Amino acid sequence: MRYPEIKTDLPGPQASNLVQTDKTYVSPSYTRIYPLVVKEGQGLWIYDVDDNLFLDFTAGIAVCSTGHCHPKVVQAIKEQAERLLHMSGTDFYYVPQIALAEKLASLAPGEGIKKVYFGNSGAEAVEAAFKLARWHTRGELNIAFFGAFHGRTMGALSLTASKTIQKKHYYPFVPGITHIPYAYCYRCPYNLSYPQCGLECVHWVEDTLFRTTMPPEEIAAIFVEPIQGEGGYIVPPPEFHRELHEIAKKYNILYVADEVQSGMGRTGKMFSIEHYGVAPDIIALAKGIASGMPLGAMIAREDIMTWEAGSHASTFGGNPVSCQAALATIQLLEEGLMANAQIQGERLIKGLRELQKSYECMGDVRGLGLMVGVELVKDRETKERAGELRNKLIYEAFRKGLLLLGCGENTVRFCPALTVSEEEIDVCLSLFGDVLKAVGW
Ligand code: PLP
Repeated sequence: MRYPEIKTDLPGPQASNLVQTDKTYVSPSYTRIYPLVVKEGQGLWIYDVDDNLFLDFTAGIAVCSTGHCHPKVVQAIKEQAERLLHMSGTDFYYVPQIALAEKLASLAPGEGIKKVYFGNSGAEAVEAAFKLARWHTRGELNIAFFGAFHGRTMGALSLTASKTIQKKHYYPFVPGITHIPYAYCYRCPYNLSYPQCGLECVHWVEDTLFRTTMPPEEIAAIFVEPIQGEGGYIVPPPEFHRELHEIAKKYNILYVADEVQSGMGRTGKMFSIEHYGVAPDIIALAKGIASGMPLGAMIAREDIMTWEAGSHASTFGGNPVSCQAALATIQLLEEGLMANAQIQGERLIKGLRELQKSYECMGDVRGLGLMVGVELVKDRETKERAGELRNKLIYEAFRKGLLLLGCGENTVRFCPALTVSEEEIDVCLSLFGDVLKAVGW
């Protein structure tokens, strides 16, 4: 079994120098939580610039779906790079963009023909969905959720309600957006318990919101992450999306699924909304779509994507190299990685639940496929958030060679590449157990 190898103090000498230079020249707005300076990666394994070896359970923030530098993705990139680097899918046609659009349109759930818009990132995919919803419906109001992260451009940031630091000093935002509580059952915003709650968080929308402040006929769309990502890897109960979608349909409100983090096979299905049996009107995609090459996509039914030539575009969107990387990625997902995500995700959750029996601080273990979160608390009864402990755990894991990230205020997220093996899951669990032993309770 392969284990991380940490040969220097962290950060090592090379990394320390580079971190210093970075401090001088790189934007201080980035949120580096530990000083990892990456040199190269293969699969789930990363060497830093001092040749320390790490096991990566972050996948570059849920991006490297096929692992670092999967040979088939690298091959597709190399071949495309030798043929054509750029021409702009905005003004010209080329095969990789057309082929990828056809593929994504065929994968998206629901009846009828779909069309695809290409951008370069998650924020751009959401921004495009936001603009299309307004263009198509002419509605000026939108609903989004507390805890939601949809990106940092001004439109996407207006929908985001994850952390105030992301919004501080940027007001005013796009008007007409109302944030409502998400189905966060571990901390039910209505102080109820599932299933006795009868899904109050959904019914409240129709019973209260539409009768008091939001005329439903003026609402363009509901923007929702099928599983909340940055907000804390929160998995809503089985009926949540179906019932909310029913309300949206009743009032002709578009249902926009932000699958930027939860999509592309990570949860064991191509789109996580498929677990809920809902066909959204619009889907936003990015992150895992092209194994690390920059690409965002927005998929909508053809009767919704009615905007006219010139109404939205991006010079780099749908870059041919990124599109080829996406086609290779999707092939790998379909050939077994999606199924592996489900199998290994179950193993990971089972192992974490086993650890939970010994560690009081592991308040909640939840997830679907390889989108797994552990919410840390000071006390299981009061559920007081243990944010500092979370940060300490992640730092200690780094020191032991296991790369993890946080999400929400006090949750550790596990989002490894979908290529993760049984052995790698077990090494992660064993290292996480060591870290809990050292700093947990
Ligand atoms: N939507 C979701 C659900 C995300 O998780 C993210 C990023 O974390 C975004 C949108 C924004 O993506 P990007 O950082 O590529 O703009």
